[in-house]
Amino acid sequence: MEGDVADAWQARVQTIRGAMGVCHLLIEPDRSGAVLLDTGLVGEPWFIRRAVRKLGLQPGQVRAILLTHGHLDHAGNLAWAKAWSRAPIYAHPAEQAHIDGTYPYCGVNRWCGRLERAGRTLLGVGAAAKIDVPLADGDELPWWGGLRVVHLPGHTLGHCGFYSARHGVLFSGDLFASYFFNVHLPPPILNSAPELIPASLQKAREIGARFIVPQHYDVLDGALHRCRFEALLARRERARSAG
Ligand SMILES: [Zn+2]
Ligand SMILES: [Zn+2]
Repeated sequence: MEGDVADAWQARVQTIRGAMGVCHLLIEPDRSGAVLLDTGLVGEPWFIRRAVRKLGLQPGQVRAILLTHGHLDHAGNLAWAKAWSRAPIYAHPAEQAHIDGTYPYCGVNRWCGRLERAGRTLLGVGAAAKIDVPLADGDELPWWGGLRVVHLPGHTLGHCGFYSARHGVLFSGDLFASYFFNVHLPPPILNSAPELIPASLQKAREIGARFIVPQHYDVLDGALHRCRFEALLARRERARSAG
């Protein structure tokens, strides 16, 4: 039964695996379109085009572009994706500065800014895209049987997940990364507001999602990532009580 439920929604997710992370196409119930969740690292439009084609869809059938946050490995193809599909971009307004490459990184987070600047130069990042629809915590979006915006700040100030109550799936962005050899929070240099991360971890846990899908992972298995997320939280709790 568990397997059937998992298969039901996983069959409606097309993964787009890039050099650094995984973007997703969430396929509408009648397969008349899809929404694109994150756009990958610069230079990967070919992967997105191929995935859309594989679903038998035209670029114009991408209904919206949802952005978890504005780091380069998520927003790298944002301007291209918008021009190609003409779909509006949905993201938290705090992410515009990341998309534009103007976020005022400070402290240890300055290294993230340096890495992004180097990446932008190296990869020849062109014009930035404007967020069309600003998102806020609790917003309900109409796609995929309904998606709720879950603001999970810390990694960036506008970092958001998307929760499908219908399928019990939380798309958790960069809240944590989930590989069989390493389940971890993003490294400190990548986090703009680390003091907000514990509350966001707790908030994600309290949603009670049966399945979790991050953006950096090995296999599309929402039950596995949810188990790993719980194990990560338990490990943090043990470390805290030991320390
Ligand atoms: Zn990130
Ligand atoms: Zn990332």
